[in-house]
Order: sequence, then C-alpha cells, then structure tokens
Amino acid sequence: FLPMALILSLLLMAVTSNWLKRRLSYGDLIRRAIARDEFSVNYQPLFNLETNRYSGAEVLMRWQLPDGRWAKPDRFISAAESEGMIVPLTRHLLMLISRDVRHWHVPPGFHLGINVAAEHLQHPDFVQDIRGFSAQLAAKKLNITLELTERSLISDGDDVVKKLHQLRAEGIHIAIDDFGTGHCALSYLQTFPLDYLKVDRGFVNAIECAGDEAPILDAIINLSQKLRLKIVAEGVETPIQLDYLKKRGVIHIQGYLFAHPMTSSALMAWLRSKNPG
Ligand code: C2E
Ligand code: CA
Ligand code: CA
Ligand code: CA
Repeated sequence: FLPMALILSLLLMAVTSNWLKRRLSYGDLIRRAIARDEFSVNYQPLFNLETNRYSGAEVLMRWQLPDGRWAKPDRFISAAESEGMIVPLTRHLLMLISRDVRHWHVPPGFHLGINVAAEHLQHPDFVQDIRGFSAQLAAKKLNITLELTERSLISDGDDVVKKLHQLRAEGIHIAIDDFGTGHCALSYLQTFPLDYLKVDRGFVNAIECAGDEAPILDAIINLSQKLRLKIVAEGVETPIQLDYLKKRGVIHIQGYLFAHPMTSSALMAWLRSKNPG
C-alpha cells in the first residue's frame, strides 16, 4: 500500500509541476519577476585614455531567480523581446536606474549607456519614455547615450530617424552597439544621427598577440574617423589589445582589463578610489 501511495503522489507532483510550467510562459515569468522585484542593474565603467579617468558606465540588466541563480542576460532579453515584454521590462529598468542615480556623485557629462531594443524604438511612446527618464535625472547633467543595434535601424527608417533627431536635439546621444556584427548594409550610417560606434568585442579579440593585425578593427576605426563618429572598444581584456587600440587613437575603452560590471554603490566606491581629485 505504502509504495503505491508514494508512486501516486509522486505522479501527482510531476503532473502538477509540469502543468504549472506549461501555464507560465517566459513572458509570464518576466512579468512576475518585475512584480517581485527580481531585476536589478549593474554598471560597467568606461575608461577614457585621453583623460586617464573613468568617464562613464554602461547599464547591464541582471535577473536573480528565487533559487539564487542569475539568469543569462542574452537569453532573458531575447525572450522578453519575442514575448512582447521588452518595453515594460525596459521601463522598469529605467525606474531602477533613476532610483540608483539619485545617489550618484559624478561630474557633469558622465556617460550613461543604456541598451535599447528594436521593438522599443518602434513603440509610439519611445520618445516620451526616454524624455521622462532624462528629465528625472536632469540635475545630474549626465550624458545619456542610447545603445542601438544595427538591426533596429534597418526597419521602418523614417519614423525612427525622426525620433532620434528629436531626442538628439534634447541632448541624448546615440551609439551603434556591436558594430560590424549586424550583417547590414552601411547606408544607415548616413541616414541616422549618430555619435558613437561600439565596435564588437569579436573584432577586439582578433588582437591576440603583439604584432597581430586586426584588419576589420582597423577598417572600423578608419570608417569612424571618416564619419566623425567616436569609437568605443568593447571587451578589452589584455594589455596587448589596449596597446593596439591606443596606437590607433581609440579613446573610449570598456572591458574586463579595466572593470567588470558592478552594483551602483560599488561603482561609486570604484570612482572614488580610481578617479581621485
Ligand atoms: P552588450 O550590450 O554588448 O553588453 C556588453 C556585454 O559584454 C555584457 O554582457 C558585459 O558584461 C560583457 N563584457 C564586458 N566587458 C567584457 C570583456 O572584457 N570580456 C567579455 N568576454 N565580456 C565582456 P552581459 O551583461 O551578459 O549582457 C549581454 C547582452 O545582453 C548585452 O550585450 C546586451 O545586448 C543585452 N543586455 C544587457 N542588459 C540589457 C538591457 O538593459 N537592455 C537590453 N535591451 N539589452 C541588454
Ligand atoms: Ca551595449
Ligand atoms: Ca556590445
Ligand atoms: Ca551584445
């Protein structure tokens, strides 16, 4: 009798837990996690080789699951995109950022890079969302930079061009993220109002040892100079990579060689100790 009851209850548990899993889509899980305050933000410092100081940070979203594990950003963000949750999630993120930034002590012009998904750019309230966010932080005089992927600039061009011009006229800066990986025609570089190219870390990785050539990276650096766009090198991990970039006049550096993503309070402590004076 006992083993039978055990088997039955195990069976029941398996069935109900599967049923629960099937009922909750990834979108539901994200919605629930917003309500439960499971999302947080990290900031990865950016180093400026001209001033020899940390001059900004990129915002990176984090999700800690109830069991303590951290969800992978690439995965849950693409799930949020495909399940129609990226706009509410990004709005939630903007709220978390403004909550943090209220406690910041940073010089005027400190860069704050925010990743924006293609779908949000297309949303009718996009300009309003960014404006509202920027207005809340106006006292800090941050240099807010929206990081867009190439993919988000190929569809529905005119409308997006107009939105970006509006925001740029209000002091928001625009960067192309993961530049060179989008398999896009480069014509959008002439159509959209842009400030920065963030060269993908894959091209920085191509510099492996001293004397190595990284021809695509060189071409991107030349292109950015011709187009008068500033360049940010991402994923800089070694002194050899840093040296290569320095020699080619790249000023803005992001990568584990300098700093990993960290919490808001860790960022403030980091800036106090690394940017003295
Ligand atoms: P991304 O925008 O290209 O962000 C840079 C990623 O590279 C981050 O990964 C960062 O932790 C990592 N990274 C920085 N320096 C180095 C380095 O030196 N070496 C290596 N190997 N990696 C480095 P993370 O935080 O896992 O984010 C992955 C991607 O998820 C981001 O790529 C971005 O596409 C997306 N993402 C993260 N947060 C947000 C967000 O708030 N909104 C949106 N739409 N996307 C986000
Ligand atoms: Ca980015
Ligand atoms: Ca990137
Ligand atoms: Ca990426």
